[in-house]
Amino acid sequence: MSSGISYSPSVNQPQYYVVQPQKKDAKPTIIQSGVGVASGVAAYKGSNFLARLCGFSIPHKKVMEIGKSLNQNQIKAFEDNTANVYLKSGLKDKGVEIFDAGKISFDEYWKLSKEKAVKFVEDGPFIRTFCKFFREKYGEKIYKDEIKKYWETVLCREYKTAYNTAIKGLNAFFSPFNNTIVYNKKSPMLISLPHEMGHAINFNNNGIMRKLHFLKMGGLFVPLLMLPTVLLKNKKQEGEQTTGIFDKITTFIKDNCGKLTFLTFLPKLIEEASASIRGTNLSKEFLSKENIKTLKKFYSWAWLTYLGSAVIASLGVTLASKVTDAMKEHYRNQNNKEIQKGQIA
Ligand SMILES: [Zn+2]
Repeated sequence: MSSGISYSPSVNQPQYYVVQPQKKDAKPTIIQSGVGVASGVAAYKGSNFLARLCGFSIPHKKVMEIGKSLNQNQIKAFEDNTANVYLKSGLKDKGVEIFDAGKISFDEYWKLSKEKAVKFVEDGPFIRTFCKFFREKYGEKIYKDEIKKYWETVLCREYKTAYNTAIKGLNAFFSPFNNTIVYNKKSPMLISLPHEMGHAINFNNNGIMRKLHFLKMGGLFVPLLMLPTVLLKNKKQEGEQTTGIFDKITTFIKDNCGKLTFLTFLPKLIEEASASIRGTNLSKEFLSKENIKTLKKFYSWAWLTYLGSAVIASLGVTLASKVTDAMKEHYRNQNNKEIQKGQIA
């Protein structure tokens, strides 16, 4: 008998009826999906740990080794280079200040640069809207005493964390918020100064690199924003079509989560490379060929810390998606088997 057509032996006329598909596909329950999502989060956290260990720590160790290998003559040459590049680049005229975290305490630094940082945040387009909203809703006094005081505390805490890393000589940074460069002169990060000045030039010149400065912050939170979609969205079954624009977008995000994560790191990778190129080019006039070689080696390894973080973050999001899907599929198969058992019994 062909499917969908039934021949009645009494009446010699074909009769048609609709074949009801057998319901054999059972989606995971909420608890099972929850376990799947939790497994994905664990995979993401695990890969983050791996990122710190391999993607960041190994190249960072190499950076520190290069910095520590400098002899007294090289240290003197790099110190002089810092002063020369600072003058030549015109950063002083643009209000960029350099702080030696080995000499200046955080409290002193914050006292001198807090006002600029606070103003930068308050004037930013996103925060400005919030500030305006709170001012209008609660009045100027409550805004200043409660809300502004709160985000100032958060800002101060973030700066303090970065500054403490600089005191230890593990990092140097340029902050666009208050136009300052922070490093420890008596640490391997001395070599990093031309690179930090490269960042400062990129930011203070009103070009595409200034825009990348803002875009590169995307790499910090976009993967975290994408993660709920990647974990909560169910993988399309074979032949299953998307329905509506929201489904299309979330399916696209899920299917391309690794590539999209890497894309969010691209502005950072480009801007970091550009800062190193600028710093190296400005130093060529003041450093010997041998020292320029050391500078390039230092910057190449430093750039690899960012590339490593980007690659492993992308793999982490992909892994989180795959683990969640595998868990959900496992429960789906388990549920289907239960249903089939029930049908046979
Ligand atoms: Zn940098």
